[in-house]
Amino acid sequence: PARGEPVLSIDGVQKNFGGLVAVNRLSFQVEAGGILGLLGPNGAGKSTMFNLISGVLNASAGEIRFLGRRIDRLRSRAIASCGIARTFQHVKLVPSMTVLENAALGAHLRGRSGLVRSVLRLDRAEEARLLAEAAHQLERVGLWAQRDELAANLPLGQQRVLEIARALAVDPVVLLLDEPAAGLRYKEKQALAGLLLRLRDEGVAVLLVEHDMDFILGITDRLVVMHYGQKLAEGAPRDVQANADVQLAYLGA
Ligand code: ADP
Ligand code: MG
Repeated sequence: PARGEPVLSIDGVQKNFGGLVAVNRLSFQVEAGGILGLLGPNGAGKSTMFNLISGVLNASAGEIRFLGRRIDRLRSRAIASCGIARTFQHVKLVPSMTVLENAALGAHLRGRSGLVRSVLRLDRAEEARLLAEAAHQLERVGLWAQRDELAANLPLGQQRVLEIARALAVDPVVLLLDEPAAGLRYKEKQALAGLLLRLRDEGVAVLLVEHDMDFILGITDRLVVMHYGQKLAEGAPRDVQANADVQLAYLGA
């Protein structure tokens, strides 16, 4: 898709958990070649929205389209293999596996199901393909030097980058990142921001969930602010930041 074209369209999406409306008739679009920030206080419905896009949850109402095609009834594996990759709010690496092996776990999603050869029951050719793809992604994100370290031994900032490498292995059109900067040190946040800008420039559309305003303002092209499941504001980061409703939701009053 060309820069600025919508790749992901969220149209009137709603999610109820019993009597709680976690996502309330939300509509927005993610465009190719951009970084869209989904901002909102805790409990606003951001992770739920991610779970709806990635097929972890089914919407109660509304439609989600990827490159024009309805995806809101597909299973999460089908959604991932069609080009929508995600990371989770809490790191989901296999701590006892190496960096390279963790990255390879992402590569298998593209082709077939299952974990690296013994776990995945792959033949040697398939294993070699996954490891080569994983090596490529580690180089892309700057983790090649750490390939043989155990994931558990990486600092949090590099664990987050490894999760991104794993997500990239499916060669996604859209990358969904749930609070990738949470808990990171200043230098780690800067490195992450640099990586996300580079991925954007390579043509990956990024949807970034954050509640850290400073991080999100620095790298996004556009912001959607959620509050109690609804869209409170949308637009250029500077305008959104200046919006009185947004300030109220953040500062409370
Ligand atoms: P955010 O990611 O913006 O902090 P969430 O999407 O995690 O918010 O949660 C939005 C609301 O939905 C919260 O009130 C939360 O307690 C509720 N919620 C999230 N997941 C579930 C679930 N599986 N069952 C019931 N309530 C949920
Ligand atoms: Mg969340």
